[in-house]
Amino acid sequence: MAIYRPTWAGVSQKAFASNLRALRAFIGRSVQILAVLKADAYGHGAVLLAKAAVQNGATHIGISSLEEGIALREAGVKAPLLILGGVYPLQNFDVALKFNLIPTVASQEAAEALRKAAFRRNKKAAFHLKVDTGMGRIGVSVEHAKRVLEWIKNQKEIRLAGVYSHLAAAGSDAEFTKAQLAHFNDVKQHVSALRFQGVLFHIANSTALLHDKSTHYHMVRPGLSLYGAAPTGSSPPVTLLPVLSWQTKIIFLKKVSAGTSISYDRTYRAKNDREIATLPVGYADGVPRRVSNKGFVLVKGARCPIVGRVTMDHIMIDVTGLSAKVGDDVMLVGRQGKETISVWDWAGWAETIPYEIFCGLSKRVPRVPV
Ligand SMILES: *Cc1c(COP(=O)(O)O)cnc(C)c1O
Repeated sequence: MAIYRPTWAGVSQKAFASNLRALRAFIGRSVQILAVLKADAYGHGAVLLAKAAVQNGATHIGISSLEEGIALREAGVKAPLLILGGVYPLQNFDVALKFNLIPTVASQEAAEALRKAAFRRNKKAAFHLKVDTGMGRIGVSVEHAKRVLEWIKNQKEIRLAGVYSHLAAAGSDAEFTKAQLAHFNDVKQHVSALRFQGVLFHIANSTALLHDKSTHYHMVRPGLSLYGAAPTGSSPPVTLLPVLSWQTKIIFLKKVSAGTSISYDRTYRAKNDREIATLPVGYADGVPRRVSNKGFVLVKGARCPIVGRVTMDHIMIDVTGLSAKVGDDVMLVGRQGKETISVWDWAGWAETIPYEIFCGLSKRVPRVPV
């Protein structure tokens, strides 16, 4: 579809590839990488980045649902695809097998349903077992894992290809993380005792990958860091390049005098003569309404405040003294001259996390490979 409105997100496969390579160099050759491309690659476009992921050494791709896996298969992605979310209803294991997607099994019932689906298709179904070591989301409990593993051991229609868990507080609670790892090691020992072969153990998200090498096991599962955002506020031990930029242009410009109010509810009033520009981007595109009178964008390399309420389709900014013109480029996320605005900045203004800013970028914003 043609793009007329000058609002788009640039997605750099080169930056993504560079991040993946940097993470690989950091973890070393013996550890595999599952590139987490769920939620359409955190809003960046999974089809675009799946190919870059595979070309740059990811051995697996993680997605959230059958739908996301099917979209990648239909785009010609051949790599092993692990569905990180729970499959429900359980008959849907048949869809996973049909599209050659590796399902997560998070309960005994799920394991039995997968066995049935595999039997019907006359296939040996590979899967990863999810163990809940403290996240409290999905997964068999550590105690129950042992029984489930013993049952799995005796089934010839299904194959345990991986065992994994998810850290709840990798960046915020070292003690709890240690306890989760201890539980995970317990399960690992049991898997060894049962003499399963070739089972991949994995637990590390971006934070754990970058800040605690004891979490690497056989494979790591970076998401956020692949997109060039540090997963914690502190600077990471590798160079990460932002993959996404978010841009628009000034479409309207006016001079206002003291007392003039801007946007809904008149929350902004000019204190003196100001130049106010209008941008064709709003909360329907993913600008959080919470950044009203709080956030900034870049015009001519200068940080310009968002004035007044964010509206559905537009925001207004103060460009006083910049000699800005209609048609001037505006960076919402990215660099202009010496200034940079990051998703962490947006997350701060909106009192959220970079993940939500990325995922909030709506379908209406075209993703353009750059
Ligand atoms: C989203 C997710 C990840 C990636 O986490 P980041 O913090 O983005 O690196 C890893 N594992 C699972 C199970 C996830 O759901």
